Amino acid sequence: MAQPRIQYKTNAQMRTMREAGLVLIKALDAAVEAVRPGITTAELDKVFAAVLAEAGATSNFLGYYGFPATICTSVNEEVVHGIPGSRVLGEGDIISIDGGAVVNGWHSDSARTVIVGAADPEDQRLSDVTENAMWHGIAAAAKGRFVGDIGAAVDDYVSSVPGKPLGILEDYVGHGIGSEMHQAPDVLNYRTSHRGPKLKPGMCLAIEPMLVRGGIETKTLEDDWTVVTTDGARSCQWEHSVAIHEKGIWVLTAPDGGASRLAPLGVTPVPIP
Ligand code: MG
Ligand code: MG
Repeated sequence: MAQPRIQYKTNAQMRTMREAGLVLIKALDAAVEAVRPGITTAELDKVFAAVLAEAGATSNFLGYYGFPATICTSVNEEVVHGIPGSRVLGEGDIISIDGGAVVNGWHSDSARTVIVGAADPEDQRLSDVTENAMWHGIAAAAKGRFVGDIGAAVDDYVSSVPGKPLGILEDYVGHGIGSEMHQAPDVLNYRTSHRGPKLKPGMCLAIEPMLVRGGIETKTLEDDWTVVTTDGARSCQWEHSVAIHEKGIWVLTAPDGGASRLAPLGVTPVPIP
């Protein structure tokens, strides 16, 4: 089967994606800020949706294959695509909030993980390692030659972490992003023999490792959306949308373009010209 074509963006298009990224940063900030014991995931969705509306942006999640909310809220053993609803967050829950925004037809997509109240140190470690793995993947988008270098960097970093090994999910992967949320190419979070397409200016990629404390097998619940780990072990996701342009990379969904987190990895992000 032919690979779907990659959409290479102009600088102007990527600058509009940055606008969608800045709205998304604000909306995720508000949702993350609202997380506390006793709040429902539906309330977090409302907080997020209000920021999008205020900014005049639209949601790329709402209505996506019928998805009923503007964010995915995946709690504890839920891996991805959790639907906001009446679930009440409690002390020690680990929740991944994944959202997106559209400005003038151009998309952003980003996810953060928060632990409610006092964290189990193993959950904190899961979140920290997943976030660091994402940054290693992003650095590889700047330093590497092929899309496959991103997954290799994520994989190498996760296997280098001392202590109890964490699993990298293989069922869900990152993706190209642009005038649609999900585009070619797939961005795997693990090392394979396929190096994938060449990293080129105009490519925008959502880099989103998902890690688990147990086995990497998943199943989808009867709501046809919520994905959980089969063994019930806790799971975590972090995600950023990243633009590759002729002068370097810029993390569209990080306030500083990724500068502070990429410096220790030897990468200086450059704003889109
Ligand atoms: Mg996402
Ligand atoms: Mg995504």
